[in-house]
Amino acid sequence: MSSDDAGFKAALEEAKQGAKEGGIPIGACLVNKDGKILGRGHNMRLQKNSATLHAEISTLENAGRLPASAYQGATMYTTLSPCNMCTGACILYKVSRVVMGENKTLVGGEDFLAQRGIEVVNLKNAECEGLMKKFISEHPDDWYEDIGEPPKGR
Ligand SMILES: [Zn+2]
Repeated sequence: MSSDDAGFKAALEEAKQGAKEGGIPIGACLVNKDGKILGRGHNMRLQKNSATLHAEISTLENAGRLPASAYQGATMYTTLSPCNMCTGACILYKVSRVVMGENKTLVGGEDFLAQRGIEVVNLKNAECEGLMKKFISEHPDDWYEDIGEPPKGR
């Protein structure tokens, strides 16, 4: 697993697309056991006024309805450590692996994933960190709302 993986590159492209749209710059991509991209997407919370469309959920949604077997051996690439909601979705569909760009911005459900036998890989990618650092410095309230927390420093 590395930042050169096609699935990770797609996730990073999605994060940048989100940034272009003025959204929260987090992207994801679901790749099946044969290396085929099943779906990709980015956080659409601001764009769609959505309570649930984090990057991983957008990705699962864009991949569409699939039989359980489609997720066997699959990898969810995401530019940021998955929150509790997205961790739950990965556990529900029993993906085999979660590869994240970074977890300096947020440490999500990594331990829970590991407990459920899902392999967790952190690529410690500086570009992913940079996208989030910039967004949070410019729109702190939108970020805390995304992770279900009240605004900080008020
Ligand atoms: Zn999430």
